[in-house]
Amino acid sequence: METKIAIVKNLHKDIEYIKEAANIIKNGGTVVFPTETVYGLGSDALNEEAVKKIFKAKGRPQDNPLILHVASKDISSLVEEVPNVAQKLINKFWPGPLTIILNKKDIVPDVTSAKLKSVGIRMPEGEIALKLIEFAETPIAAPSANISGRPSPTDVERCIEDLLGKVDYILGGEKSRVGVESTIVDCTVDPPIVLRPGAITIEDLKRVDNKIELDIGLMKKPTSDFKPKAPGMKYKHYAPKAKVVIVSGNREKTIEKINEMVHYYISHGKKVGVLASKENSMKYKEGQIKVLGSILDLDEVAHNLFESLRSFDDIGVDIIIAEAFEEKGVGIAIMNRLKKAAGYDIIES
Ligand code: AMP
Ligand code: MG
Repeated sequence: METKIAIVKNLHKDIEYIKEAANIIKNGGTVVFPTETVYGLGSDALNEEAVKKIFKAKGRPQDNPLILHVASKDISSLVEEVPNVAQKLINKFWPGPLTIILNKKDIVPDVTSAKLKSVGIRMPEGEIALKLIEFAETPIAAPSANISGRPSPTDVERCIEDLLGKVDYILGGEKSRVGVESTIVDCTVDPPIVLRPGAITIEDLKRVDNKIELDIGLMKKPTSDFKPKAPGMKYKHYAPKAKVVIVSGNREKTIEKINEMVHYYISHGKKVGVLASKENSMKYKEGQIKVLGSILDLDEVAHNLFESLRSFDDIGVDIIIAEAFEEKGVGIAIMNRLKKAAGYDIIES
């Protein structure tokens, strides 16, 4: 398949690219586009055949539902009912990195929701995404624009790497501001439950309704009788080609343990990468060091996480040793993605 690539540098000057991409969506094609969380791979959410193309391009399991991207806070045509708390969340956090799960109307096809009665919906904040949805005049179903299982792309180059020749159009723009996928809140239950942590933190959500809690299924490795509630969260995910190991514990011991491990692997002929905080990065003696950001600025760490994992693949490391970050605020989302990338391989220093 031929893929057209167009980069939007200036929204006004390059608006024709967005219109062209929107026409592809209208005609049942697939378009990669930037959002503030990660890049998405979209098609007309209400067109079954168009939605199937997304699953095919990504190699995504059929039982993993897609999120609908909308350009308006009025979602009454898509869902049965918007409960009070969901409306409050929408008013407070849209446009932004928050997905709300509600019971769907029949207009949303079963392929889009992976046969669930509910559907996830989000209004992204970026101008390119919003214009694309407006011009397409339909909600756009869009998972992250990567081959299934790989770390999500936060810039257009990574989308090209994964999806060139597999989609109709790649619309580039700026780097994703947030860097991890949206927070997902299931509002089909009362009180609502957080199915996936993201940049909108549990503390932010509790300010709207303090009964909102995290799905306990997110906390440890999924097993046959202990699964996260969001179908997609059970898969090994966000994984670079290299093996990932997380080291947690107090600062001094973590540095010592990581130095020990790096030395061991290098002496056994392996190429080793270290995902480090800015504060600790100077203390590592060997290996390729990538700084994720300061422990005092977890937004920066989230922003750099997926790109750092992918750039270790570029240089072909065999093993990535990652420092654990504090599971507070956006740190919950960072550790959720890191643990999944590591297949829950965590060492206490
Ligand atoms: P992605 O778009 O790749 O970030 O994946 C979407 C995530 O949203 C997956 O983890 C899905 O399982 C989850 N999701 C989407 N729709 C629903 C739904 N109706 N109920 C529960 N989880 C959902
Ligand atoms: Mg994804």
